[in-house]
Amino acid sequence: MWLLAFLVWFLSWAGGMYWYLCGRPSPFSEDCVRPAGPMELNQKKRDKLLKQGFAKQKVPKDLDAIVIGSGVGGMTAAATIAKTGKKVLVLEQHDQAGGCCHTFIDKGFEFDVGLHYVGQLHENSLFKIIFDQITEGQLEFAELDQHFDTVVIGTGKETREYTICSGKTEMEEHLKKQFPDDTEAIEEFFKIMKLSARKTPYLAALKLIPEWLALFLVRSGLANLYSSAFRLLSMNATDLVDKLTSNKDLQVIFAYYFYGTPPRDSSSLINALMLHHFKRGAYYPKGGASEIPYHITKVIQKYGGNVLVRAPVSRILVDSQGAAYGVAVKKGKEEIEVRAPVVISNCGIFNTFKRLLPPEIQVKPEIQNRVEMMKPGRGSLLIFCGFDGTEEELGISSTNLWLFKNNDMDAMMDEFFSLGKDEAPDNIPMMMCTFPSAKDPTSKFRHPGKSSMIILTMVNYEWFEEWKDTTVKRRGDDYMEYKMRFANNLFDWACVHYPKFRERLVFQEVATPLTNNHYLGAYRGAMYSAEQNLKRYHVDVMAKNRCDTPVKNLFISGQDVFSCGIAGALHGGLLCAATALGQIVHVDLLLLKKKLKRRKAREMAALAQKKLQ
Ligand SMILES: Cc1cc2nc3c(=O)[nH]c(=O)nc-3n(C[C@H](O)[C@H](O)[C@H](O)COP(=O)(O)OP(=O)(O)OC[C@H]3O[C@@H](n4cnc5c(N)ncnc54)[C@H](O)[C@@H]3O)c2cc1C
Repeated sequence: MWLLAFLVWFLSWAGGMYWYLCGRPSPFSEDCVRPAGPMELNQKKRDKLLKQGFAKQKVPKDLDAIVIGSGVGGMTAAATIAKTGKKVLVLEQHDQAGGCCHTFIDKGFEFDVGLHYVGQLHENSLFKIIFDQITEGQLEFAELDQHFDTVVIGTGKETREYTICSGKTEMEEHLKKQFPDDTEAIEEFFKIMKLSARKTPYLAALKLIPEWLALFLVRSGLANLYSSAFRLLSMNATDLVDKLTSNKDLQVIFAYYFYGTPPRDSSSLINALMLHHFKRGAYYPKGGASEIPYHITKVIQKYGGNVLVRAPVSRILVDSQGAAYGVAVKKGKEEIEVRAPVVISNCGIFNTFKRLLPPEIQVKPEIQNRVEMMKPGRGSLLIFCGFDGTEEELGISSTNLWLFKNNDMDAMMDEFFSLGKDEAPDNIPMMMCTFPSAKDPTSKFRHPGKSSMIILTMVNYEWFEEWKDTTVKRRGDDYMEYKMRFANNLFDWACVHYPKFRERLVFQEVATPLTNNHYLGAYRGAMYSAEQNLKRYHVDVMAKNRCDTPVKNLFISGQDVFSCGIAGALHGGLLCAATALGQIVHVDLLLLKKKLKRRKAREMAALAQKKLQ
């Protein structure tokens, strides 16, 4: 009798699991991917798609889901859900779609705002397959030079320069040549990179299995026993590199993708993943970052949904049972309600939980707990520079330049971020220079004779806070003067490495955390929304910070779910789609990947046979 009961239970459980994992039609398929068509060069036609303003009559009937925010995370969630045959509406507060992936054109120069380069886009990588699926093969990437980053440490006579090259084996070998006394440390770090990349799916799985189970695995120590990735996640990056080498320059190389937290407060696993991300090549979207929202929008529309801009969501509507049932969009002085059974927020956890939820729900302990797990990250300061001249004339290439004043990352960053407002502009310890026109092969014919550069550093929001209530482009002379102090120092530093810049400069615009707040809806102007610190990556927080929320039918997507970056936000979108659909779409993706690899192997075999004949 007991045996029979157990058998019945087991069979229903196994059937349920099968249904959950692979019982429903996959949103992904080999057939939906077409060869990429020519790029749409007509700006009016592009704007028609990317700048479609919100109006009640443009909202599709019988919506299945609403997504707040059109960043790559929200668009990925929207497209994945759409591809299961559902109608999804994406609402964006800015006047064009894309979030960090939007671009702007000013005086004939085009700049991306939040995508300088991405990795892991080699053929049949999971990341590439996802992009192919959500754009139906229409998004193309150009690979940067194999030498894709230069890291410069020190200033004046003390300057040391290191070059970073991509390649399955070349990246490691190239570093060993530059650090011949530290080959063992490099080998060890590359082993850690590999392990981190292989085991990251376990971390994502924590967000897909029931929370009680995830917490049980984490708190019982079983997760740690199962994989060292969980331990690496919670270990600070300084401790790890200190164990590997005493060479401070090499320590910088292991942590030069600076994302706002010094290595002492960063996760070893995340830092290892950063370098690993570019091991197989660094890439840039052909036609610029706005190609991403452009092509995803078409897919969302194909299934009856839409992407509407100038649609600031002012409230998430929650019924008396505590379930979300739609949003209110601000249109002039009016608020227009849009309803759907699923609401996905891709505008960050702070905007979602501290601004958009009704006040009586914001104060609930379960919401407070979610918010307190993280804190807003640091802001960014960007200088957009336009030059008269080709890349050859200016001596630039697709290689990015990272500059650090010295090799003690922890002390350098701690000191800088603890400076007062007046001292900060004259003591900037790091920056990055990147050249959109040189990375995008279409730039030569779209913007002939022009070159562009973006300089990037990170800053405290507090330094700019006094102007937070001023209006964009009219913030006053004192604001202008203050941000130009940063800009002039950074530009002078860039000119040390590119002497021709000064005489060729014809355009300059400076963006601060207040700019991020205005155009990207970024809470406290944060560059990557929530701080990417050790606390956020604590394995317990990883298990608790999930796409479902204490509010029924409300889900979180984007960079606050897993990690920042285009890849991180995209995976946040995918995890969100899986949670909202109740279908682990990752299984579908892995099956597709297998199929594509088999197809590639067959093609290679046929080619080899042809050569032999
Ligand atoms: C300067 C900079 C440089 C970067 N460089 C790189 C890089 O080189 N490589 C890389 O991989 N990553 C880079 N990143 C990080 C990467 O761009 C982000 O992590 C990622 O794009 C975030 O995507 P998301 O979808 O989570 O959010 P976002 O792209 O920030 O999208 C959120 C959207 O929500 C909208 N929104 C906010 N509030 C509302 C509201 N109330 N109603 C409607 N809409 C709202 C915003 O306007 C925004 O469009 C960079 C980021 C920045 C800022």
